Amino acid sequence: MSLVQYKKKRNFNHTPEPADRPKKTMSKKALTFVIQRHQASHLHYDFRLEMEGVLKSWAVPKGPSLNPKDKRLAMMVEDHPYDYGSFEGEIPKGNYGAGVVEIWDKGTYEHITIKDPAAGNKQLLKDLKNGSVKIVMNGEKLKGEFALVKMKGDKPTNSWLLIKHNDEFATHDPYNSEDYTSADSAVTKAAKKKVLQHP
Ligand code: MN
Repeated sequence: MSLVQYKKKRNFNHTPEPADRPKKTMSKKALTFVIQRHQASHLHYDFRLEMEGVLKSWAVPKGPSLNPKDKRLAMMVEDHPYDYGSFEGEIPKGNYGAGVVEIWDKGTYEHITIKDPAAGNKQLLKDLKNGSVKIVMNGEKLKGEFALVKMKGDKPTNSWLLIKHNDEFATHDPYNSEDYTSADSAVTKAAKKKVLQHP
């Protein structure tokens, strides 16, 4: 676990993002996840899984999908602090990742077979190193089994694929995460308020 890269990329005097404090202990009852829609220079969805008190993070340009046929590219990025999971707001121009961040989905998750969070966390860290992470998600939008699989190649890569397993939560229709943007997110509410005030 390291938040060095996270800290290096940001000036906390200039961005409202949370500072680089790791969580003291991992969640005891269940591991948590968050997916943030990030309208930066390029729209993407940040897929974050709590492990060892930080958020392991992937940037998914097309967003997650509930259709098992979709293999969504997921670029692994630096660990984010646990507190990032509740962050919504605007990262001002000139800062790393400038643009609007809003929570698209959140909830708990577990290792595909190990239900105990502490034991699951331990195995997940091994799976991460081995490039194959299989989980069960319990969010509002994302439910059921998912896999994150690291792409193989000659050179070291940060490229993974996010794939929905075929289970009762899967859909076989085309899935576009943009169709499911939260209507009650802080950012969406603020944007609506602005429109009402300045018609
Ligand atoms: Mn991002």
